[in-house]
Amino acid sequence: MEKNFSEDFASLLDLFKAYRKTERCLASFNVNDNYDLQAVVEAANEMDTHVMVMTYPPVADLITPQVFTKMVEGVRLNAKNKVYLHLDHSVSVDQCKAAIDSGYDSVMIDGSQQALEENIKMTKQVVAYAKSANVVVEAEIGKILGRGVEVKSDDDFLASVSDVKQLYEEAQPDIVAVGIGTAHGFTPQEPKIHFGRLGEIAEAIPAPLVLHGGTGIPDLDIQKSITMGMSKINIGTIVHTTYMQEAMKRMNEAGMNAYPPFIMKEVLPLIKDVVVDRLKAVNFQNELVV
Ligand SMILES: [Zn+2]
Repeated sequence: MEKNFSEDFASLLDLFKAYRKTERCLASFNVNDNYDLQAVVEAANEMDTHVMVMTYPPVADLITPQVFTKMVEGVRLNAKNKVYLHLDHSVSVDQCKAAIDSGYDSVMIDGSQQALEENIKMTKQVVAYAKSANVVVEAEIGKILGRGVEVKSDDDFLASVSDVKQLYEEAQPDIVAVGIGTAHGFTPQEPKIHFGRLGEIAEAIPAPLVLHGGTGIPDLDIQKSITMGMSKINIGTIVHTTYMQEAMKRMNEAGMNAYPPFIMKEVLPLIKDVVVDRLKAVNFQNELVV
């Protein structure tokens, strides 16, 4: 069945709620500056889809939420559909508030490394602050593997259904990232998604769910997760590794003559290509995908 990925909604939250009901998913890409931001927007234009761009905390720290918001406002002038801006994996309530004040559409408060009570407390604070600004809040429960996150057993990283339910009911985040076996970055083995646990969680709470670690997940697993309630997928590693490797190759070739716009004119389309490839995997019900 064909599904429309450029349908208009009154708000981002309405989009997520509709996507959860209709088994669609908003592809969300970590970007680092104006070049990969532009590449994502060009890819979304090519695929005629809404898209989300996300700043990881070091990017928000370096460029500032105020400047990044303006950059996104700039690229929206050339976008066919919506370009939403999200703060990814912030562990700081204050950083979330700064992003909300700057005009972000959505923020993630990641209390997953804290005890459940602390996670609920942090999430509540951000939810209360975001409400009047109409900003979506993503919470996380369970652990996403990789990047220094150590786990001893399945029980240690899989989100427990009762914890998810408690966090959702007490803190009332709009969307929830759940640890179900995916990992950040490239992993030596294919990550094993625990679909059984995903099914239990999707049954337990009506909130749109968020799949992290999108780079390493096989397409069919991405698509199965979407049909089970994943309404946002985060994809980061493939964007910045393509960017860095391709730029480095060209800088080495150019040596002392390396000049940013010449290098980036060649690298930008390559970033766009990997984003188009991921958009095809995520928007798999779209008639544009062949
Ligand atoms: Zn993540």
